[in-house]
Amino acid sequence: MTTENRSLYSQIPSTDSLLRDAAFQPLLEHWGHTQIADMLRQLQDEARHSVRECHALPDWCQHWAAACERRLSSATQSAYRAVFNLTGTVLHTNLGRALQSESAIKAVANVMRSAVTLEYDLDDAGRGHRDRALAQLLCEMTGAEDACIVNNNAAAVLLMLAACSDGKEVVVSRGELVEIGGSFRIPDVMRQAGCQLVEVGTTNRTHPADYQQAIGENTALVMKVHTSNYHIEGFTRAISEAELVQLADPLGVPVVSDLGSGSLVDLSRYGLPKEPLVQELIAAGVSLVSFSGDKLLGGPQAGIIVGKKALIERVQRHPLKRALRADKMTLAALEATLRLYRHPEALEQQLPTLRLLTRDAGSIHQQAQRLLPDLQQRFGEAFDVAVMPCQSQIGSGSLPVDRLPSAAITFTPRDGRGSTAEKLAADLRNLPTPVIGRIYDGRVWLDLRCLEDEARFMEMLTK
Ligand SMILES: *Cc1c(COP(=O)(O)O)cnc(C)c1O
Repeated sequence: MTTENRSLYSQIPSTDSLLRDAAFQPLLEHWGHTQIADMLRQLQDEARHSVRECHALPDWCQHWAAACERRLSSATQSAYRAVFNLTGTVLHTNLGRALQSESAIKAVANVMRSAVTLEYDLDDAGRGHRDRALAQLLCEMTGAEDACIVNNNAAAVLLMLAACSDGKEVVVSRGELVEIGGSFRIPDVMRQAGCQLVEVGTTNRTHPADYQQAIGENTALVMKVHTSNYHIEGFTRAISEAELVQLADPLGVPVVSDLGSGSLVDLSRYGLPKEPLVQELIAAGVSLVSFSGDKLLGGPQAGIIVGKKALIERVQRHPLKRALRADKMTLAALEATLRLYRHPEALEQQLPTLRLLTRDAGSIHQQAQRLLPDLQQRFGEAFDVAVMPCQSQIGSGSLPVDRLPSAAITFTPRDGRGSTAEKLAADLRNLPTPVIGRIYDGRVWLDLRCLEDEARFMEMLTK
């Protein structure tokens, strides 16, 4: 060991002396002895490593308390951080899909703090059914006879098939054997649910006769899957749920439908493209309809099954229901969300998903123009900062073809380099509240459709 290194090592303070240092007292109060002592050991190791490899102490050795605090702050940051979703995709699965309404947030906080009547009937002090209150609301809104709530729509489909197929055949059109993303593929789910897939028709065309020929005495169900994340055009034919019910009903075979997003209100009322309505399928005689809680419905992650009483009873009694059931926070958020639908005049304001989807391009454009001068001032040296029209999408596989006109702030590198755009995108992701945009055509695009907390955004970007 060189004399020089020996003198550097001796400048690394001991844990005890650091812990006695006045600068550490507020830290000890905040983080506690265990975390501080662990972090100090890490820092000391780093300092020794630096002496060994670089013959110098790291700069932060001037301020051990500050270094310790900085490290602990970043190490203890939540893994689920709030971000600005300026990707242009409103229901972004990787960013947690639907934002919850204020009433859903209050409802969740309430049930988290206290014991609740989850499966407890106050009238006769007996054991209630955890989905019962929600089932009532859902029946009222969809015309269904009963309902069941589980963890997500993937779980709903699995449970629906497992409970109602008895290991027998389920008939599905080849045009609807979709992959939803990740590992959710209809044929795989069927296998896991223990039923036998019977494919009918072709990728682009399936006719009533195809179903008719496939239905036999071993058929448990006919299933329709809403092909929510892709669209085929041209020479196509799919038969509607209503037609399918007319065909299968006389044969005593129930029709079930995985609606994916589904909606409880006609979105065309708000100037949005129309998605199939849950109540329309129920009215058409579909026996079970499943859909997501956190897609267009705008609630928490959940899978909702509505339909005929006898089948819902089988679903509720199946052992998988216990494994897939929703917790009290989900149920409370879902109840609060559904109640908003009883007040349709206020829905557009109170349900964040609808509020964001219905923002008109004109007002987003105005917002962009308003923010532009300050952003040009801050970023103008390296980037041409401009307002450009763009197209938002709903996301989560809803209405894959339809786009919503919107406006973006774009940052085009003056040096023309892709790496400069990448660097800006990375810097934006590293802000205290990360800003998530997208890179396209050599520029960074921030679609402002989902920017509601404008003050916080500008304070962070321009201060
Ligand atoms: C999104 C979707 C699912 C999966 O729903 P999750 O709530 O994400 O589990 C299943 N089927 C269809 C048709 C979908 O669009």
